[in-house]
Amino acid sequence: YDDRDGKIWMDGELVDWRNAQVHILTHAMHYASSVFEGERAYGGSIFRSRQHSERLVASGAAIDMPLPWTVDEIEAAKQQVLSVNGLSDAYVRAVAWRGAGEDMGVSSMRNPVRLAVAAWEWGAYYGDAKTRGARLDIAKWKRPSPETIPSHAKAAGLYMICTMSKHAAEAKGFSDAMMFDYRGYVAEATGANIFFVKDGEVHTPLPDCFLNGITRQTVIGMLHERQIKVHERHIEPSELESFEQCWLTGTAAEVTPVGEIGPYGFEVGALAREMVESYESLVRS
Ligand code: PMP
Repeated sequence: YDDRDGKIWMDGELVDWRNAQVHILTHAMHYASSVFEGERAYGGSIFRSRQHSERLVASGAAIDMPLPWTVDEIEAAKQQVLSVNGLSDAYVRAVAWRGAGEDMGVSSMRNPVRLAVAAWEWGAYYGDAKTRGARLDIAKWKRPSPETIPSHAKAAGLYMICTMSKHAAEAKGFSDAMMFDYRGYVAEATGANIFFVKDGEVHTPLPDCFLNGITRQTVIGMLHERQIKVHERHIEPSELESFEQCWLTGTAAEVTPVGEIGPYGFEVGALAREMVESYESLVRS
């Protein structure tokens, strides 16, 4: 991703893609002092843009890293990146981090907080799984307690276990992994929330130790509009075999049906397909 044409917004300036670099003694590189957003633009406008910018600011606050930019300024930066790069359908990545500076120890209070926004074209996150259903492994790593880490922040530190879980799954031929939480309840995939269907009703884990995704909230709204009951609750692993359909939600994943999780199989059923299609039309409406 480093050697291409285009512009990246960094600390208020548009810089050439190839020159959008940081120093090796960047605090974030050593101590994960970084928060980010993943967003998608459809036809030139970012879906739920402001909500993403607000979450970025909130994530920064959650890790004691107040951002030196307002939501309005972040909004303007994202639009500038899309237009200068001539992008219409694109993935937008905003990232804020503690840079190199006065300190190189654990404390970063005297290091500058920096912000960058990049955007590029990015197709389906799970390849052809939207029609066939993604195959998920079960991760050995657990989502941590909110007393261990601010688990509602979209913070880089939380992604170490996601990357390890995804690597382990890919090594076995799966596209992703489903993670349990620190109590053993079903939590989410490594970059997407999870939903299940049983007897015409929907069940999804209570987001009390992981991201309450913007796509998740959107899909719950779509289900409510259809008068479909949504149970947000703790889900035991023993329930997995009783669910008929399953799908993932996320900005990158959009709505992606799941065909299997470890030994458990699911059909790519009517409701899953309807959610895939309705989400696709909603983001462009
Ligand atoms: N969980 C994790 C771990 C994620 O990385 C994401 C993607 N941001 C989500 C859930 C879904 O969040 P959203 O719908 O806001 O993209």
